[in-house]
Amino acid sequence: MIIHRQFRMRLQFLRIAGRAGKLVPGGETFPQGVDIPGNFYHWNLMYIEGKKNPVRFEFARNVGLQGKTGFASQCIGCGKCEQHCPQHIQIREMLKKADKELRPLPYRIAMPVVRKVLSR
Ligand code: SF4
Repeated sequence: MIIHRQFRMRLQFLRIAGRAGKLVPGGETFPQGVDIPGNFYHWNLMYIEGKKNPVRFEFARNVGLQGKTGFASQCIGCGKCEQHCPQHIQIREMLKKADKELRPLPYRIAMPVVRKVLSR
């Protein structure tokens, strides 16, 4: 069942976040600033709640509009997060899939504009 599997993945990624967070000061970000738990949390939420656009807005607000962005597209593919994953999850590939769903083209275009407006 998709929802069950997605929810389990969320828990696994939060565990990874705890471990990989030791790599960087602050404990919540990863190299390149990719917000791995934030991306997967919102991706899962889309399926748990069955509402895509409201969750995309929430994702934009939480991950895209606060301070530095934490988008999956910032990933350089170094693989450090996967080295810390006890379940050997292919985080880099999953991030790409999550990003496709969380940031369809209109969101990719609009977010930098909104960031610019808000920073004034
Ligand atoms: S593979 Fe990507 S998400 Fe994972 S630690 Fe490296 S830059 Fe960050």
